[in-house]
This record gives sequence, C-alpha cells and structure tokens, in this order.
Amino acid sequence: MGTIRLVQGDITKVKADAIVNAANTSLLGGGGVDGAIHKAAGPELLEYCKKCGGARPGEAKISPGFRLPAKYVIHAVGPVWYGGNRREDEILKNAYLSSLKLARAKQLKSIAFPSISTGAYHFPKERAARIAIETIKSFINNNTYPDEIIFVLFDDESYQIYRSFLEK
Ligand code: ADP
Repeated sequence: MGTIRLVQGDITKVKADAIVNAANTSLLGGGGVDGAIHKAAGPELLEYCKKCGGARPGEAKISPGFRLPAKYVIHAVGPVWYGGNRREDEILKNAYLSSLKLARAKQLKSIAFPSISTGAYHFPKERAARIAIETIKSFINNNTYPDEIIFVLFDDESYQIYRSFLEK
C-alpha cells in the first residue's frame, strides 16, 4: 500500500528518488518537461542519453539525475495522440508501467510523474489522468516499491483534473 500525493509546480525541483521525463523516442531532449529536465540536470544527461539507444513508445529507460535534486530520471515515451484508434491508451498505460517497473527494479521508494503525452503530444487531459491514476494505483497495491507517488502538474487545468479524480 503506497501513498499518492499531488503537487502543482516544476518537476525539476522535486527531490524524489526518481522523476519521470515525458521523453521522445530519441531520448535526446526536446521541449516542455523534457527540455526543463535536461536544462536542470546539465549536459551530462545528454551525454548519458546518447548511449541509451532511444526507446519506443510505451518504453522507458533510466539515467542518473546528475545536477537534479532527484537521484534518477526515468525517461518514458508516451504516445502521440492521433484520435484514439492507434493504441494510444495502451501505449500511455505502458509508459507508466515501464517507469514503475524500473523504479521497482532499483527498489526506489519515491517517484514523481508529470502528465505524460498531454502537452506537445496532445493526448486528452482527462483521459490521460484516468489512465495514469488507475495504472499507478493498481501497481502500488501489488508491489512494495515504489510506495510514494507524486503527481507534479505544471498547469492549473491539469492540476484541477487530477485533484477531482483523486478525491473520488
Ligand atoms: P509530451 O510531449 O509528452 O506531451 P510535454 O512536455 O509537451 O510532453 O507536456 C507534458 C506535460 O508536462 C504538460 O502538462 C506540460 O504542461 C507539463 N510540463 C511542462 N514543463 C514541466 C515541468 N517543468 N514540470 C512538470 N510538468 C511540466
């Protein structure tokens, strides 16, 4: 049994065992939360990620956090939203599950998630929040690690959506 917390703000400031990055398949950085994480972690992160060989949608890879307060960064690749008929739901669920499995393998206690795929990738926000929350709740109910989940929502709309789902 773990705990789920909700905060509004910048995930690069969060001192968790791992923060999750909404990465693209190259794992070489980009805009949004990806750009913010690379900027805060320093150029060592890009050097490290160049050796990771990319990741497919639904997969994740782990790196050190370098200059971040978090020990690790888990780079998860979410789906681009094409309207819902290209297995977007399943791929988003797999991006969360792949991240959780990497945290479990390293016995990490705390992990912070942004809202994967709902920025530049245009996945509908409420639909994504439901998938994120359901996937994470079921995982932490069946595993010892991780046991402290922090959802870090950047914009007010996403924060309010998560708040209303988590209050239910
Ligand atoms: P994607 O390409 O997966 O859609 P984005 O980074 O474009 O990823 O957006 C994903 C979510 O991350 C959006 O809700 C965006 O507002 C949010 N975001 C952007 N910067 C940060 C940050 N520094 N910390 C947490 N969330 C952020």
